[in-house]
Amino acid sequence: MMTIDNFNFAGKKAFVRVDFNVPVDENFVITDDTRIRAAMPTLKKILADGGSLIIASHMGRPKKNPDPKYSLKHIVDHVSKTLGVEVKFVDDCNAADEACAALKPGEALLLENLRFYAEEEGKPRGLAEDATDEEKAAAKKAVKASQKEFAKHLASYADCYVNDAFGTAHRAHASTALIADYFDADHKMFGYLMNKEVTAVEKVMSETVRPFTAIMGGSKVSSKIEIIENLLTKVDNLILAGGMTYTFMKAQGGKIGQSICEDDKLDLALELMAKAKANGVNLVLAVDAKVGDGFSNDCNAQFADVMNIPEGWEGMDIGPKTMEKFADVIKASKTILWNGPTGVFEFDNFSNGSRAVAEAIVEATKNGAYSLVGGGDSVACVNKFGLADQVSYVSTGGGALLEAIEGRVLPGIAAIKG
Ligand code: AMP
Repeated sequence: MMTIDNFNFAGKKAFVRVDFNVPVDENFVITDDTRIRAAMPTLKKILADGGSLIIASHMGRPKKNPDPKYSLKHIVDHVSKTLGVEVKFVDDCNAADEACAALKPGEALLLENLRFYAEEEGKPRGLAEDATDEEKAAAKKAVKASQKEFAKHLASYADCYVNDAFGTAHRAHASTALIADYFDADHKMFGYLMNKEVTAVEKVMSETVRPFTAIMGGSKVSSKIEIIENLLTKVDNLILAGGMTYTFMKAQGGKIGQSICEDDKLDLALELMAKAKANGVNLVLAVDAKVGDGFSNDCNAQFADVMNIPEGWEGMDIGPKTMEKFADVIKASKTILWNGPTGVFEFDNFSNGSRAVAEAIVEATKNGAYSLVGGGDSVACVNKFGLADQVSYVSTGGGALLEAIEGRVLPGIAAIKG
């Protein structure tokens, strides 16, 4: 597989798929430019080699073309400043032939939002609400057919393809997957960010040093079923925390008061417990909870046995015994994966459990464990606690990371790796 370090971009035009889907305020001012900064090592390496950049990204979920609200023109100046080169803007990503042909070494251009074309995602748009199933199928077939042409056209702009958009690696879109078919193996590669993400996932999921502990938190078991099932075939210890705890407790006959619970998942909880036992996985559940008498930071709070929460109270974080229990398992681990808080960490009074988990992961990491944190709110947790730089890797890709943990092949990765 070609790597960005082994490729000499001198005199070459590189089509670089990045994830510049940054949040902007009502005046289109970027409120968090992490994603732009994250792509800089790749973009700068290509320019430093003497290559030129055709930068492509999506922004938001536009339903039509063009939708000014989602135009990438609003970020061009910021990208120029961050890159240190004046970036040109092409306001139609599917009509950039001349601008790309005119690019000289060291120059860069940014294409307008790829999702202004339905072909990018390969999903039909503008269907009448009362469209029949046949009409829907025909529209889908048509957009799928033109998707390949769209990908081929984007590919024609450049000599090589670099994918640095891990955040969309789980999508089989024109610019994230199909485009790679139009470059041979020596002319397509991951960018630095993508490479870091792929390496991190591999370190955890396939090159695992044991004991391997996964901590799954968050609100609902229903949104994590596939991940938990896949992890039950991989981990030594599975810590289940957060709101899903109470579904497991109720399934075992516990009293959970007003705690969040999915009553239609009680059987599933028991099945997962049986599966863990059958697979020899140490399933680690909470024993106590910090409960509140209302869903707010300032509600009255107390600790309770997790199987015996009083009426009128709800479990909003783990209690001190559980913190210790979780920390002991985490500190004895050599590979750690954390997804999802142990409680309502957004409320300071219910964030201690998530903090304790983060601190245990930091300590294990100092002692040589490899730790990957990612997939949504656990990233916000390590940032809130100022510990992001003390774990091995914090993933930038929410959905993509979760699908990788589910054991799925990500189209954006497969398109390059084969
Ligand atoms: P998820 O998106 O499924 O990873 O869930 C993250 C959310 O779960 C966060 O916003 C937490 O506040 C929430 N959460 C965690 N524990 C609980 C709990 N015990 N009760 C209600 N919400 C919770």
